[in-house]
Amino acid sequence: MKTYIVGNWKLNFNVGEASVYLHKLQKKIANYRDIEVVVAPTALCLQSLSLQLDRSKIKLGAQNAFYQDFGAFTGEISFAELNGLVKYCIVGHSERRYIFHEDDKMVAKKVAAAIRHKITPILCIGETESERAFGETADVIRDQLLGGLSEIGAEDVSKVIVAYEPVWAISSTKDAKIATPDEIAEVTEMIRKNLKEVYGAKTSEEVPVLFGGSVKPTNAGAYLTTPGINGLLIGGASLILEQFTDIIDIAKRVK
Ligand code: PEP
Repeated sequence: MKTYIVGNWKLNFNVGEASVYLHKLQKKIANYRDIEVVVAPTALCLQSLSLQLDRSKIKLGAQNAFYQDFGAFTGEISFAELNGLVKYCIVGHSERRYIFHEDDKMVAKKVAAAIRHKITPILCIGETESERAFGETADVIRDQLLGGLSEIGAEDVSKVIVAYEPVWAISSTKDAKIATPDEIAEVTEMIRKNLKEVYGAKTSEEVPVLFGGSVKPTNAGAYLTTPGINGLLIGGASLILEQFTDIIDIAKRVK
């Protein structure tokens, strides 16, 4: 399986800045084949970056889209519009869940719409700090995972990438709020166990599981060698070219 290194730029970089970053990134990296480097800029940047993209090195991802193809949905963009523009789309990011109130039903429809339009959904799941403190992690993981997959058929589950992103470890500046490889391995095991129970052993092994939560060059090696982890979803560090390329180098080394 490939190693996925996905940069989620969130609401950062305008079209010009994104373009400059992309050119620098493309200069700095080669075609690594066994490492899938993905950047997810704002929706406004996608069209212009897609025209400048060296697809042998980098793939484009969207950060979000709506599940209806067209209609009276002011402010939304659809997976239908993204078809041909991006290879991936992040779905159910915790910022979508907690700031924009997306629930598992909405997330499930988005996962299905992505698959329908041949876009690989990166389904984000993860518990909050208080859910972890109350011992609810396993339930949250199960609900968000199986809930998020509930609108697609079993035959399509292996087309989904799952990203485990503990909400308490995202954009963390305190070491105490950094997930340890042991904590991640425990949840990764839960994810695969749930997939195995519902969809069978083969599918559970085929679904890539990424980790995201304050990944930096200093911890990327430990996360990438955590059992069951097939890549990283990176927010803050993906905005700093040196850090992002360092992480890609680490992925190459530990492969
Ligand atoms: C994210 O938002 O997906 C993320 C993991 O952010 P950060 O790396 O900044 O914690």
